[in-house]
Amino acid sequence: MTILVTGGAGFIGSNFVLDWLADPSAEPVVTLDALTYAGNRANLASLGGDARHTFVHGDIGDRALVDRLLAEHRPRAIVHFAAESHVDRSIHGPGAFIKTNVEGTFTLLEAARAYWGALQGEAKAAFRFHHVSTDEVYGSLKADDPPFAETNPYEPNSPYSASKAASDHLVRAWFHTYGLPVVTTNCSNNYGPLHFPEKLIPLVIVNALAGKPLPIYGDGRQIRDWLYVKDHCSGIRAVLAGGRLGETYNIGGWNEMANIDIVQTVCALLDELQPDAAGPYARLITYVTDRPGHDRRYAIDARKIERELGWRPAETFASGIRKTVQWYLANAEWVAQVQSGAYRDWIDTQYTAS
Ligand code: NAD
Repeated sequence: MTILVTGGAGFIGSNFVLDWLADPSAEPVVTLDALTYAGNRANLASLGGDARHTFVHGDIGDRALVDRLLAEHRPRAIVHFAAESHVDRSIHGPGAFIKTNVEGTFTLLEAARAYWGALQGEAKAAFRFHHVSTDEVYGSLKADDPPFAETNPYEPNSPYSASKAASDHLVRAWFHTYGLPVVTTNCSNNYGPLHFPEKLIPLVIVNALAGKPLPIYGDGRQIRDWLYVKDHCSGIRAVLAGGRLGETYNIGGWNEMANIDIVQTVCALLDELQPDAAGPYARLITYVTDRPGHDRRYAIDARKIERELGWRPAETFASGIRKTVQWYLANAEWVAQVQSGAYRDWIDTQYTAS
């Protein structure tokens, strides 16, 4: 048996594939990825010629392709990461988010339903469709609200979170209407190796090292829960192995931090690990006009996955962020490779000083 991973050349998907195949007894993986600007074959380069991995360049919205992959590889599970994932891009161009996150998930669910429907016996009982989603579907919290639990109502505020909310609802409906064996995980902000430098933490690291401004939206007091990507991957493996069908599980690090404090922490680590002769990196902090509809606070109540599946993050924020900064310092080639012309064109249009 194999597992089919969609979006496995992206940030979290590639970390998931690498961690999965680090276990010599793990099932083979077929990665299906459209290689958008966020997908990168180099993320999986360390697999070398591992015969347990097959990479397929293609779109989750291509039903004929997905049908063919399911028929050929007979996967035991589909782990669905593929998505348009950047909130800022969803504000500028929401169409791609509807296409991949909503229509693409619909196509994948329909293909999975046909495939699973034809399975028999143990193979049918073992099959899982694991949908990877975000805490942003729950909307924004006030300072004294309790963290998001799985029972919170959905209140998405950006085109990105609305498209992910729609996909979560489709997945839920395919369980209740057709009995497709699904599980969904909603995770907080991830950080770690192989993170495309349009998101806060890698952007700050690469800009600081290049002596460029470190853009902070608004007052920088927006609060997020942060989880090291490898801990997200272990949470997904736990839910895939033991999560109850039709259930959703929140995954989070119990680590709420304001954006400005994240940036200060990264600067302090860089000051320690790669001091700049021009002075502390925090000198580069630049406040920019806030993102429209910017959610103020996200926080995750991860007690369900802890209680039911015994999952806990292995890293604290202090240990995870140190590993992350060290990874970027050691992988300048990867950073240079992802900073293509297209990346620069996008990033240069993004931030207006306030
Ligand atoms: P990413 O943007 O780094 O990667 C997405 C991957 O999907 C890329 O490799 C891209 O090429 C691929 N892709 C996009 N459209 C596709 C299509 N139509 N067909 C096939 N492949 C396609 O995203 P990420 O940060 O790794 O996020 C992965 C998943 O996890 C997403 O579903 C996201 O909503 C969710 N998530 C992300 C975070 C986070 O902090 N990054 C937190 C919680 C949940």
